[in-house]
Amino acid sequence: MNSDKENDSVQVAVRIRPLVVSEISRGCQDILEVFTDINQIRIKDSDKAFTFNHVCDTLTSQDTFYDTCVKHLVSNLFKGYNVTILAYGQTGSGKTYSMGTAYEDNEQIGIIPRAVHDIFNYVNDNFSCDFNITVSFMELYQETLYDLLASKPREQCVLEIREDPKGLIVIPGLTAEPVTSASKTLEYLCKGSRGRVTGCTNMNAQSSRSHAIFTINICMQQKNDSANNKTAKFYLVDLAGSERSKKTGATGVVFREGVNINKGLLALGNVISVLGGDKQQSYICYRDSNLTRLLKDSLGGNSITLMIACVSPADYNLDETISTLRYADRARKIKNKPVVNQDPKVAEINRLNKLVTQLRLELIGQ
Ligand code: ADP
Ligand code: MG
Repeated sequence: MNSDKENDSVQVAVRIRPLVVSEISRGCQDILEVFTDINQIRIKDSDKAFTFNHVCDTLTSQDTFYDTCVKHLVSNLFKGYNVTILAYGQTGSGKTYSMGTAYEDNEQIGIIPRAVHDIFNYVNDNFSCDFNITVSFMELYQETLYDLLASKPREQCVLEIREDPKGLIVIPGLTAEPVTSASKTLEYLCKGSRGRVTGCTNMNAQSSRSHAIFTINICMQQKNDSANNKTAKFYLVDLAGSERSKKTGATGVVFREGVNINKGLLALGNVISVLGGDKQQSYICYRDSNLTRLLKDSLGGNSITLMIACVSPADYNLDETISTLRYADRARKIKNKPVVNQDPKVAEINRLNKLVTQLRLELIGQ
């Protein structure tokens, strides 16, 4: 099996957003201390300390964040690995800022536009392969999955999640738009984001309660070698706000939304606990929510996965910040099994070729 040992564990990066102007004017205190040299984050005046793969303080620019935590993952796509990036944290902690939309100015652009540019720079410089790239964009809201790229009224954009006989998740009818440039890809990111705006009365309220899943599918075919092909899926997930509905005092529809989000994020938390070894359970409860069904391959499956845990440094967010750090700490212990996505026949040919080479070397050695 082709597996990069260093990519086996789910990587976790914690990112702390700066205090916002209103927090500074209200006199909020910064309760976090960062020790970047040992990737540790501590809660001031307490013995709570957490260590992650990366800890990025309030001064970390978008550029540095991408170069440190994400860039190397994008290059794995072209080796045929699936890659997933999940942004987790309470509303207002910096998930969307980190993932990025297509609207921002150059310095402030987040992960998605940077990764898209890197992908097409690679594609345009690589003359030995033919590439077939498509994008999809889904929104999971109250356990209902919507296709954000279908040019239809929202109520006709509902998708179903199914499993094929091998247990792989399939989404029949999901729009997959072919793309040949970074700008076209980012147009679809804009189009999908607009779909979220028009689909509800309050975009901010909705975006903090739904999960957004932008996917880039890459098929690579070596020119002059039809047997040499690889595929890779790149999932970029901006999760719903992780705050507990209890805290917001929500009732009615808003409360139901809170419960449904909790259903997805709670199920995700359970999956993370079982996979990370914190909970003794013989089966992994992916079927408990649509979010965990969709992310089945990203946690404990065939993917190189990065979780970005976004936290606020403000004192009034202490409970949510500790809860996010605990969640992320459990995720850190998960082992995935990333393997190169190749046609099984091609994999067998490669195995036999290696064997032939090995036997030749043994013959020469004799
Ligand atoms: P979320 O998506 O988690 O609800 P946002 O990404 O919308 O949160 O961030 C909330 C606010 O904080 C926004 O105004 C955003 O610009 C700002 N912000 C978040 N992270 C950072 C950061 N690392 N640096 C500067 N501003 C940030
Ligand atoms: Mg957001």
